[in-house]
Amino acid sequence: MKQSRLLMPTLREVPADAEAVSHQLLVRGGFIRQNAAGIYSYLPLGHRVLHNIQTIIREEMNRAGAQELLMPAIQPAELWEETGRWGIYGPELMRLTDRHDRRFALGATHEELITSIVRDELNSYKKLPMNLYQIQTKYRDERRPRFGLLRGREFLMKDAYSFHATQEDLDEEYTNMYNAYSRIFDRTGLKYRPVVADSGAIGGKDTHEFQALADIGEDTIVYTDSSNYAANIEMAETLDRYEMQQADVRPLEKVDTEENRTIEDVAKFLNVDPKTTIKSVLFNVDGETVMAIVRGDHEANEVKVKNALGGLDIQLEDEAKIVELFNCAPGTLGPIHAPVKVVADYAVKYLVDAVCGANEANTHFTGVNAERDLAEMTYHDLRFVVEGDLAPDESGPVRFARGIEVGQVFKLGTRYSEAMGATFLNEEGRAEPLIMGCYGIGVSRTLSAIVEQHHDDRGIIWPRNVAPFDLHLIAINAKDETQVELANRLYEELGQTYDVLFDDRKERAGVKFADADLIGLPIRVNVGKKAGEGIVEVKVRATGEVIETSIDELNEVII
Ligand code: ATP
Ligand code: MG
Ligand code: MG
Ligand code: MG
Repeated sequence: MKQSRLLMPTLREVPADAEAVSHQLLVRGGFIRQNAAGIYSYLPLGHRVLHNIQTIIREEMNRAGAQELLMPAIQPAELWEETGRWGIYGPELMRLTDRHDRRFALGATHEELITSIVRDELNSYKKLPMNLYQIQTKYRDERRPRFGLLRGREFLMKDAYSFHATQEDLDEEYTNMYNAYSRIFDRTGLKYRPVVADSGAIGGKDTHEFQALADIGEDTIVYTDSSNYAANIEMAETLDRYEMQQADVRPLEKVDTEENRTIEDVAKFLNVDPKTTIKSVLFNVDGETVMAIVRGDHEANEVKVKNALGGLDIQLEDEAKIVELFNCAPGTLGPIHAPVKVVADYAVKYLVDAVCGANEANTHFTGVNAERDLAEMTYHDLRFVVEGDLAPDESGPVRFARGIEVGQVFKLGTRYSEAMGATFLNEEGRAEPLIMGCYGIGVSRTLSAIVEQHHDDRGIIWPRNVAPFDLHLIAINAKDETQVELANRLYEELGQTYDVLFDDRKERAGVKFADADLIGLPIRVNVGKKAGEGIVEVKVRATGEVIETSIDELNEVII
């Protein structure tokens, strides 16, 4: 591809509205353009990366025995009414009516639709198991679309659904998909961790999320270095419902609400390092479970609270919002009537005390010793955060990291098949509900997550497997005939083996180099002053390494 013909509108300035690095670089590099909040166009470069990620996904899904189909984005409301999700899903589900006043949803996910298809087809155990997937545009009217492609309202998802006669068969497919996901994310070049997660509104039981590690991530994961075990802290909510009563509780000391207003005060009170930052907490207000992430901002010397369910940022001073978030009676801000469970936080102790006026008689911390440094938390403490079977090693500190959920695998069971009457005849000829699994990957979110992990201050550094082109060929001086001639020749030759982007523009070298760094192709071939001697320069984007080579040896150098 000749760059003079490519729609690649690069920008020098950081777009004002873009908080996340990936958002900034994808806009600046001319990969995407926003059309409305959370709604984007993929320009040719962005489209190429998206295509490469899809290819990896298709290859691994097909290899794992799944088959591709394509379902509609527009789905009849009646299907969502069968499972009750027309009501449950809330405003995130985009709804519309046709000219005959028939109601539809824009597909946020496709459990109902796929179940409606297979209930008429997979009617015998002989046809099972089966795994069907699609790569398709999804619609979710997110309360806070943000970070570019990371949380869009229109986004690309790979969603797969499997159908089984027995639980054991589902278990086997779950492992198969888990392994396929690991191969997919390995191939995209992402650093990620599979974590145990909460199944949330979708129903079902066993589930893992694939979390790409990045500070911008909206999820907090807890893990130990000494084992493979990791969990999304949202798990704490699930645990709480079951174990609150049996938990080992200890009373909270009363704190002067006026005096303990800053991180410094809290730190002094708790005898901990004031630089302690992201923490999580789960507590219960007036019988309702509230999950919050509490963030101590040392710089601003204040405590921020984020409702993990809604993504709301509030400050302690903002009484009206706290009243709303914690459902406290205005004016009184408390007391909290139900047990308070700290998962891993000191700031919350302050929060609860200072904001809600905690009262000894009915407020309790469990499990975690609030006076101990977080870094010393051990497996013993993790037990309170996660449910069930941990990895065998019980030693070592517990660590926290931020993650971007790029994929999730679920064991759905019969939640959808029972609600929608999707049955098959078993070996004895009796009808039973199909046992289901479902498996999602955020394709467009993965693209952004890769950029979050692979960039420097000059631009993106694409991993080879997903890069929009393999090679960037640059004629440094487009007015120099020798250079242009050699560059054209190399464009032909390299094009036999590689996907080459040829910067043939009549621009200054500085402009070409800045654009090349920004869009981040893995290898650059500069044709410059030594073109006459048949010598060019190969530059590796990731390391900055420069190798001068004769064109005869170019192929070996590039490999
Ligand atoms: P989140 O917790 O981030 O809202 P989710 O759990 O609601 O995600 P799933 O229903 O599990 O998402 O959908 C499967 C995958 O689709 C997710 O793992 C994620 O990678 C991707 N995804 C979900 N919502 C969005 C979005 N608004 N924009 C981009 N990708 C998304
Ligand atoms: Mg969501
Ligand atoms: Mg999620
Ligand atoms: Mg999910």
